[in-house]
Amino acid sequence: MVRVKDFIRRFEQFAPQYLAESGDPVGMQLGSTEQTIHRVLVTLDVRPEVVKEAIAKKIDFIFAHHPVIFRPAKNLVTDDPQNAMYAELLRHHIAVYAAHTNLDSANGGMNDWLAQQLQLKNVQILQPNYQRKIKKLATYVPEANANGMRQALAAAGAGQLGDYSAASFSYAGTGRFTPNAGAKPFIGQIDQAEAVAETKVEVVFPEALTNAVLAAMFQTHPYEEPAYDLFTLDNASGEQFGIGRVGEPQQAMTIREFAKFTQDAFAVQGLRLVTQHPDELVKRVAVLGGDGGKFYPAVLHQQANVFVTGDVYYHTAHDMLAAGLSAIDPGHHIESIVKSKAVPLFQEWARVAGWNDVTFMASALSTDPFTFIV
Ligand SMILES: [Zn+2]
Repeated sequence: MVRVKDFIRRFEQFAPQYLAESGDPVGMQLGSTEQTIHRVLVTLDVRPEVVKEAIAKKIDFIFAHHPVIFRPAKNLVTDDPQNAMYAELLRHHIAVYAAHTNLDSANGGMNDWLAQQLQLKNVQILQPNYQRKIKKLATYVPEANANGMRQALAAAGAGQLGDYSAASFSYAGTGRFTPNAGAKPFIGQIDQAEAVAETKVEVVFPEALTNAVLAAMFQTHPYEEPAYDLFTLDNASGEQFGIGRVGEPQQAMTIREFAKFTQDAFAVQGLRLVTQHPDELVKRVAVLGGDGGKFYPAVLHQQANVFVTGDVYYHTAHDMLAAGLSAIDPGHHIESIVKSKAVPLFQEWARVAGWNDVTFMASALSTDPFTFIV
């Protein structure tokens, strides 16, 4: 039996909520995390027609990129179409979870999917926003318990270094203590100074695993009062996260040619090109899903001459032109790539986790509000 919370636990290893921009209402939005799930619908937007589709397809969990509740509801009067939609979801026991800017910044997430679709090479993060810290734990155990401790810490995920796992360092020493009245010592007696041959076991791990690693240490440690040191390292080896991607085109193209290539890559009816140099060659391309215009200074900083993003404002377009930057706006709806990319990813997680009775499917609807008249 798979519950919403099981899915969330797996998903947030991939796109933790702390990667989201502040104020972005990501995470569980509607329904209960305790609900069991069998049929999951992946969608860019939760709109009334998507809710109808979900009901028809007997969906019990919707995974959406855009939060369904973006502005707080002031009332729950169902004459309002937005509120009526919440009521329909609750009435049909459809839980909704949203992964927005945390999915944008996740490695292998939204912006990597868009960069892949544009066939960019040498892809890097456009604007880093988070460096995962590395922690080190040292604990002191009787020699006979050292092996068990090393195994428990490795099982909790500590000691992953590149292509190596279960990495640790141990050295021998002497632990000294005097159990006082009330203590129930594993070794030694009340009021008698004790000296024990101990092993110091050291491991490193990403900070996100801190709770799991500490829990494993406490569970495995034989002592009533385990001695341990926990610290944060300044090593810059933690995983880097950030919004947007920048890379080079697969082959030499002018900006006009690249605009056409972008249109085909995302199969959009039309797009807007902001440029004063359509025949200049594309050097580097930045891509950022959604409404990314405000990030154009980061694009200039990364020395890209083309920026692919949605919802570019009139005045921002002027600013980009004045700065010598060209922009391609294929619309916000290119983020519907979430449907074709997230479904196989979730299916793979389900296979590994043995979630045999959960089916993941993409919404069959387009939620693009815009059409082009040509
Ligand atoms: Zn978006």
